[in-house]
Amino acid sequence: MTRGEQLYEGKAKIIYATDDDDYRILYFKDDATAFDGAKKGTIVAKGIINNQVSCRIFTMLAENGIPTHLVKKLSEREVLVKNVAIMPVEVVVRNIIAGSLAKRMGRPEGEKLPFPIVEYYYKNDDLHDPMINRDHVLAFGLASEAQIDQARELALKINSILQPFFADRDIILVDYKLEFGDFHGQLLLADEICPDTCRLWDAESLEKMDKDRFRRDLGKVEEAYVEVCRRVCDQ
Ligand code: UDP
Repeated sequence: MTRGEQLYEGKAKIIYATDDDDYRILYFKDDATAFDGAKKGTIVAKGIINNQVSCRIFTMLAENGIPTHLVKKLSEREVLVKNVAIMPVEVVVRNIIAGSLAKRMGRPEGEKLPFPIVEYYYKNDDLHDPMINRDHVLAFGLASEAQIDQARELALKINSILQPFFADRDIILVDYKLEFGDFHGQLLLADEICPDTCRLWDAESLEKMDKDRFRRDLGKVEEAYVEVCRRVCDQ
């Protein structure tokens, strides 16, 4: 499969065409943004690490029955994926209170939730990705009833696989964002799962091992990403 023209450049990835319209190549960049693009920077080798971590996680999820867009890793920074029509709804799963949930509910970060919470956000940069509910998804035609219900079901199944996977590696999976897309009528897990899109805390020290180190200027960003990669990919 050869890399064709560049179709889209996002904040963290570039999407290329291939000679088959059913497939795309994703290229992982080192660019990092936060707070809706207001904070910009570079995390050295982030693209390589995120691609490696995401491929490991997607492969493991596929082995556990989750349909994903991943076809194969092509190089350090490139992956071949199925060309899905991305659902314009970001699905966030939360196990521990943190980030925007802590702010919205006026609670400290770190409290365990009684059960995983699934939230939906409308993918729209101009509107700053507002939180929406299932009724909004259906009323505004962002996804069909079957799609949004399947996305929620898959998100909870993914959570039941990912939580123990990270726990075995002494990492607490606090919260994370998932994206889904349609491929010839089948809903597939798409995008990436990596330290950019998850909150990951060391199980012992509770140190943050994710993009919050960049967002909050905590330092040792690269080191944290490398350590997540070591624990996720070497075991
Ligand atoms: N997240 C993401 N992309 C987004 C928004 C959130 O990957 O555009 C992830 C984020 O890294 C965290 C989870 O989703 O793991 C929940 O994020 P939250 O709603 O707390 O928002 P934030 O604190 O990132 O503003």
